[in-house]
Amino acid sequence: MGRLVMKFGGTSVADIDRIRNVARHVEREVKAGNEVAVVVSAMAGTTDRLVGWAREAAPLHDAREYDTIVASGEQITAGLLAIVLQEMGIPARSWLGWQVPVKTDSMHGAARILDIDASGIIERFAQGQVAVMAGFQGISDDGRVTTLGRGGSDTSAVALAAALGARCDIYTDVDGVYTTDPRIVPTARKIDRISYEEMLELASLGAKVLQTRSVELAMVHRVPLQVRSSFEAPDSPNQNTIDGTGPGTIVCDEEHIVEQQVVTGIAYSKDEGKVTVVRVPDRPGVSAAIFGPLAENGISVDMIVQNVSEDGLTDITFTVPQKDLPRALKVIEGCKGEIGYEAVRSSGSVAKVSVVGVGMRSHAGVAADMFKALAARGINIEAITTSEIKISVLIDAAYTELAVRTLHSTYGLDGE
Ligand code: ASP
Ligand code: MG
Repeated sequence: MGRLVMKFGGTSVADIDRIRNVARHVEREVKAGNEVAVVVSAMAGTTDRLVGWAREAAPLHDAREYDTIVASGEQITAGLLAIVLQEMGIPARSWLGWQVPVKTDSMHGAARILDIDASGIIERFAQGQVAVMAGFQGISDDGRVTTLGRGGSDTSAVALAAALGARCDIYTDVDGVYTTDPRIVPTARKIDRISYEEMLELASLGAKVLQTRSVELAMVHRVPLQVRSSFEAPDSPNQNTIDGTGPGTIVCDEEHIVEQQVVTGIAYSKDEGKVTVVRVPDRPGVSAAIFGPLAENGISVDMIVQNVSEDGLTDITFTVPQKDLPRALKVIEGCKGEIGYEAVRSSGSVAKVSVVGVGMRSHAGVAADMFKALAARGINIEAITTSEIKISVLIDAAYTELAVRTLHSTYGLDGE
């Protein structure tokens, strides 16, 4: 018996039948003696439709009203699940963000949770009631409804688990986190246990299972997290203990992972844009002259490479999110006077492929193996970045699948 947050994503609550299936998962945990809070997403497709309506009403709309509109999807699911649970004889009630309350800052559309007062929910636990909380939403200091950014229900769930001192199971349409995208590599394997750090890298590098912010929160508050499927039979024996193995992927502290791989997973992203500023004077201040204005315009730069200079001139290459590429070019052109370059080149058809694993800290040669394997396939590397547990390379987008497959077998990740 313990305290548990169960989060269900959009495909898991896509219609009333699936909501009934979700209710059976909840019933299993309640019958096992757990105090259960459920966090729900909007039914699949709902949020996209709501966003579409807001845009249709006015392309440049009041962000506060946008949040009022898009937060409504989760309200529907919360009410429906509470009704279905009640029908099954399980006491339950819905909680909207403002009712809990889930307090956030006022960054409408991308708000951050500041605090959750879970005392009301805990009081109802004592009466045997299940809490069904609408994910994705909160309330700002000035009393307006806020939303947490797309995919934000994961973050609602982890934040609630932290406030409740509970563990958190994220139910989705896949049965866990995979060594890479199984659509590209059919032999990709489900990972049994992965560290917070690795999951954070994979999430921010393009693996779409969990919202990046939710992993950050889980890591900071040490919330035991599990990713599992809502489509497995709700009454199948449940052995999802954090210390043992579960039906899904457990995200936990590195110390709790016995069999550590050197490389745990491979991520890729095709949403990259590349800019090369050709022949800029190599003197103090040029980098600031390029990257300062980009930052001021809210464009985040990822990889940066500066060449060795010749005759006091050098080339600087960097990447930005593909959607920001036109804006980035405009900003750089606007600063031509201050920077003093010869030309700007750009490409929208580049991809970033990354290998992630905490084992890299203690293993030499991981990068060398990566570069050798890519070279053997004739794949040219245009830029490289590394962290303690990750190596990313920028390549021609046309080679993404080949690169991912090659690296997956290079590091021995292929299953049967
Ligand atoms: N419904 C929201 C979205 O589609 C939040 C979520 O599902 O996590 O982005
Ligand atoms: Mg999601």
